[in-house]
Amino acid sequence: MDNPLLENAPLPAFCRIRPEHVEPAIDQLLADGRKLIAELTAKADEATWETFVDPIEEEDDRLSRAWGPVSHLNSVMNSDELRAAYNACLPKLSDYASEVGQNPDLYRAYKRVSEQPGLNAAQRKMLENTLRDLHLAGVDLPPEKKTRYREISQELSSLTAKFAENVLDATNAWHKHLTDETRLAGLPASAKALARQHAKERELDGWVLTLDFPSFEPVMRYAEDRDLRREVYEAFTTRASDQGPHAGQWDNTEVMERILALRHEQAQLLGFGSYAELSLAPKMARSTDEVLAFLDDLAERSVARARGELDELKTFALTEHGVDDIQPWDLGYWSEKLRRHRYAISDEELKPYFPLEGVVHGMFAVAERLFGVRIEPADGVDTWHPDVRFYRILDEAGETRAQFFLDPFARRRKQGGAWMNGAVTRMKMAHRAQLPAAHLVCNFTPPVDGQPSLLTHREVETLFHEFGHGLHHMLTKVDYPPVAGIHGVPWDAVELPSQFMENWCWERESLDLFAAHWETGERIPEDLFRRMTAAKNFQSAMQMVRQLEFALFDFRIHMEYDPASGGRVYEILDDVRDRVAVLKPPATNRFAHGFSHIFSGGYAAGYYSYKWAEVLSADAFSLFEERGIFDPQSGHAFREQILEKGGSADAMELYVAFRGREPNTDALLRHSGIAA
Ligand SMILES: [Zn+2]
Repeated sequence: MDNPLLENAPLPAFCRIRPEHVEPAIDQLLADGRKLIAELTAKADEATWETFVDPIEEEDDRLSRAWGPVSHLNSVMNSDELRAAYNACLPKLSDYASEVGQNPDLYRAYKRVSEQPGLNAAQRKMLENTLRDLHLAGVDLPPEKKTRYREISQELSSLTAKFAENVLDATNAWHKHLTDETRLAGLPASAKALARQHAKERELDGWVLTLDFPSFEPVMRYAEDRDLRREVYEAFTTRASDQGPHAGQWDNTEVMERILALRHEQAQLLGFGSYAELSLAPKMARSTDEVLAFLDDLAERSVARARGELDELKTFALTEHGVDDIQPWDLGYWSEKLRRHRYAISDEELKPYFPLEGVVHGMFAVAERLFGVRIEPADGVDTWHPDVRFYRILDEAGETRAQFFLDPFARRRKQGGAWMNGAVTRMKMAHRAQLPAAHLVCNFTPPVDGQPSLLTHREVETLFHEFGHGLHHMLTKVDYPPVAGIHGVPWDAVELPSQFMENWCWERESLDLFAAHWETGERIPEDLFRRMTAAKNFQSAMQMVRQLEFALFDFRIHMEYDPASGGRVYEILDDVRDRVAVLKPPATNRFAHGFSHIFSGGYAAGYYSYKWAEVLSADAFSLFEERGIFDPQSGHAFREQILEKGGSADAMELYVAFRGREPNTDALLRHSGIAA
């Protein structure tokens, strides 16, 4: 069969890919991969970069060049047939990945290559990462420990799934049926319509509130009925626990204990003192002390300000509305009232200044001025939908460095949200050289009735954010896919370029490059600009301490675990809250029982990464505040050290090479309006 997924063209042949191509291509490539690994590991003792690493990387790249477009199309042009083909391949791919990840002969061969002279820095870094990841997967453990490692991994994967199921079941089990419309007073029309729809689905009259975010959030923010807010708050914050309306059902207490115990044991098997240490092994942060000092520093400098913000809120509620008692279920409601009272700013007011075409051109102009590249549209390239645009990035010499697709609009059977992923990763190996290519996917409102697509300011930020990831993927000069572009960049550093680019959405000088009223061509008026920037930092210290509470709690439960005393989940949470929370939740609050990020997602002892990356991007931008937001030298340094080197060197070393020093928290606190 003529299969477009098995061609080695520079870009995927989107128009010709059919669901029936998927399984045969993946089967073929997995069989080829297994055969190659068997051949190469049979002579592991002779492995060199050329005879071992090169062929493996090329084979891996064939697999990702086939699977990449399939999973991309599954997200942006979903159909029942494609979904079925996609799902049929998932278990095959995960079996293959665990086979590779558990193969001691591969480990031995990589180890041998890593000890050979003549490797360049990027090659050494790539091998170091590979050996580290194989070690973290338990490959080099002695047999009895390896067996135990596997048992732990299996039990952990069912426990973390159980945790998520409990949260989901508890969330779905609760609803509040209302027949008296006055109780919904204050809710926006969209939230009421949703509540009406939820009632219809249950064949009930009136309205039904649930604990899903689109239902929960408007109640906390807008519902005037205080008892209703309290009831919904209590149901939400006691999910999957020993408290609240479903106390004892779907209770995660034991699940959390067991997860913490097993993670600790696994870390010890691998030679770490705690799971927090294990979590940091592939990250930019160098030690548990460094992470704690980092979080403590932010906390110390934000708590007083956060308390001040709460006092302001209390004063507002008292003087404007005669309310003298603010409880956790009142916080969102009064905050929203204060926000509107103070800034009177709406999305609608800004949208006319952000027509998509203008924003895209402006974003390219920003990148061109900062990084000395040129971005040009190109025709005649095969895409997956008529709305999709295609561009090339050229360097100073006019050489094409990368290419990308932009799929801007929401449509049926396209996954929501916005993201960047690589279509092709840069590679220069023995038998193969290729330029990077990326997909930028958004879900903006398409043009309607003669009006262009107009973005909210948040959407403009999103576009810049994803483009930042895209530049990281595309401007790389590294030749080996596992450390080229965003590959191999530590989890806590990968958001640096994306958040960094968002800064150009907040500066007058850059906004004036692209923000113009779609009808009049007028720039954003000064008064509107001032309100927009002032609203940005509304209650930023309260938001900061909330994130620090989560991050400190997550880090400490994984760092301080001791089999003798158990998880001490709420003891540690209370201790953290004593230090950083401005409004103490009621004793029945069971936040941890629903903290899926760390108990069922990938953020265990890694929640701090959110703040870590914000500090990096703010600190990076502060160089441009010092020298001008389009300073070409600083732009060049960022391109050279961060964007071009990607995962090919230690993240802290690259940062220092760009910034001239290690990052600090000053700029983030200043940008958030927390410190002067
Ligand atoms: Zn991102």
